[in-house]
Amino acid sequence: MDVRRRDVTAALLVLGTLVAGSSSAYARSAKKLPAPAIRKLKPVAPKPKLIVLDPGHGGKDPGALGLRGTQEKNVVIRVARDLQQQLKVGGRYRVVLTRSGDTFIPLRERVARAEEAKADLFLSIHADSHPDPGVRGASVYTLSEEASDREAAALAARENASGLATLDLSRHSDTVAKTLVAMSQRGTGNASRRFADTIVETFGRSGVRLLPRSHREAGFAVLTSPDIPAALVELGYLSNRYDEKLLTVPQHQVALGRALRASVDAYFGAGSATRKA
Ligand SMILES: [Zn+2]
Repeated sequence: MDVRRRDVTAALLVLGTLVAGSSSAYARSAKKLPAPAIRKLKPVAPKPKLIVLDPGHGGKDPGALGLRGTQEKNVVIRVARDLQQQLKVGGRYRVVLTRSGDTFIPLRERVARAEEAKADLFLSIHADSHPDPGVRGASVYTLSEEASDREAAALAARENASGLATLDLSRHSDTVAKTLVAMSQRGTGNASRRFADTIVETFGRSGVRLLPRSHREAGFAVLTSPDIPAALVELGYLSNRYDEKLLTVPQHQVALGRALRASVDAYFGAGSATRKA
């Protein structure tokens, strides 16, 4: 018994030493825990949002034509470049343009580029024309199978015609229907409408003239990415002499860019407020 008790005592001592040793080793390793590793866990700056800007038309497709020969493709790329510069200030956004020069990019390709880039937001930028030269003002569009009105349907048909070389129009309404189902499952449609309304509000506040019923809906092929909130803005009518003149004035192009930057800020600002609530 004595022998066995001694053995047990010895064993306990050994165990005690081991535990003490390992705990002091633990203490040592705890002391050695690198402080930078802990700091790394703290959130730093939020990841910049990726904005894809889509200046309409380009290359062989000039888009709408003005009374004085202004081409839509040239006006919208200047506004897109100004907006790109303004969005980059402050590091809150990264910006990708679907075309950076005067090149023809099919509509499908524009959607594919935004998806490939995993965009957080997509804005297609256009300028329109109208048979009535008195019609003027900006308007904003989101995707819908049923157009909100005849003019929006006609506009979507005009803009979609830009992709005729590659877009199978017979399948187009199918694509829109499928996209809308996917969008409603993922909340993309609501986000798109919220973004469009934000642009209308910001334009209103910034003194940008708006078309009556400024936010409309139709089946725009370029807005058919199911995961990316998207809107299309028509900056004005090149068929109206006042709008045409304004759209070619650099200060007005910069002002439009500033209003669109404020819209993007408001969209993401409101988005994070909703998530916090
Ligand atoms: Zn256009």
